[in-house]
Amino acid sequence: MENIKLKAYGKINLGLDVLRRREDGYHEVKMIMQTVNIYDELELRRRKDGLIDLKVNVPNLEADESNLVYKAIKLIKDTCGIEDGVAAYLTKNIPIAAGMAGGSADCAAALRGMNELFQLGLSTEELCKLGKKLGADVPFCVVGGTMLAEGIGEILTPLKSVKGDYLVIAKPSIDVPTKYVYENLHVNEGNRIHPNVDIQLEAIEEGDYNKLYNNMGNILESVTVEKYGVINDIKESLMSLGAKAAMMSGSGPTVFAIFDKEEDAIAAREALAANNNFSFDTLCVTTYTE
Ligand code: ATP
Repeated sequence: MENIKLKAYGKINLGLDVLRRREDGYHEVKMIMQTVNIYDELELRRRKDGLIDLKVNVPNLEADESNLVYKAIKLIKDTCGIEDGVAAYLTKNIPIAAGMAGGSADCAAALRGMNELFQLGLSTEELCKLGKKLGADVPFCVVGGTMLAEGIGEILTPLKSVKGDYLVIAKPSIDVPTKYVYENLHVNEGNRIHPNVDIQLEAIEEGDYNKLYNNMGNILESVTVEKYGVINDIKESLMSLGAKAAMMSGSGPTVFAIFDKEEDAIAAREALAANNNFSFDTLCVTTYTE
C-alpha cells in the first residue's frame, strides 16, 4: 500500500463530570463521549527517505513535532521499527482547542492509518494502548461511537448507540484554555454541582432520550460561563430557537444543541449566523455517528 486516506471524527460530551483531582494533578472524570459527523481528513503516503513530513491546511496549527499527527507517526515508526518515511496531509474541519477532541481524533486516525499503511496487524487494543501515551482522549477516538469514559478518560465502556436527532455545533470565536478551566474547577473543595451521569447511562440503556437530554450536564460549564458569558448566551439563544437541550462540550467553548428535525436545526443555525451579537469560527448542523 502506498497511501491511505482517513476520516478523523470529532466528539461531543453528552455528560461530563469531574470526580476529583488526583495528587498527581490529573482529574478523574466520568464522561459520555459521542462521535459526531464532523471530521478532519488525513492522508498518509509512504516516502523512501525515512522522514516525517506533515502539511496542515490552516495557519493556526503547527505542522511540526508538536502536532499529534506527527507524534503518532513517530510513535508507530519507533515502536514498530519502520524505516520508511511518511508524508502526511491534514485538512482541519473540527474546530481547534474547542472541546471536540480534534487533536486526539487526528492522532487516532494517524495511528490507525500507520497500522494499515504498513500492514502492522496491531489490534484495536494495542492501538488504544499506544494512543493513551499521547493523550487521554485518544483511545476513545481510536474506537469512536458512544462510550462511557472513566479514569482520566482512557477507561472505556461501550454504550448503546445514541441515534437520530440533529445537532447544531457552535464554536464562538473566543479562546478558552483547557488549563484555565481545570485550574479553576477546584473540584475537591466540594463547591460544584455534579451532573448525574448515572441517570444518563440508565437513559441510554433504556433508549429514553428525553431522560438523557433532561439530565445533560457538564461540570466544566460552571467555570467557563463565569468568565465567558457568551457561552451561556449561545445556549439560551439555541434553546429559544427550539432546541431540546444545549450544552458546552468538553472544556469548551463549543456549544451543541439538539433538535428533532433537520429543518429546525438548519433554521436555528441560520438565525444564529444572522445574530450580530455573536461571532463563530464554526457553526454547522450535523448528526451523531457510530
Ligand atoms: P479536548 O476536547 O480533548 O480537550 P480540544 O478539542 O479542546 O480537545 P484540540 O483541538 O484537540 O482541543 O487541541 C488541543 C491542543 O492540541 C491545541 O492547542 C493544539 O495546539 C494541539 N494540537 C496538536 N495537534 C493537533 C491537531 N492535529 N489538531 C488540533 N490540535 C492539535
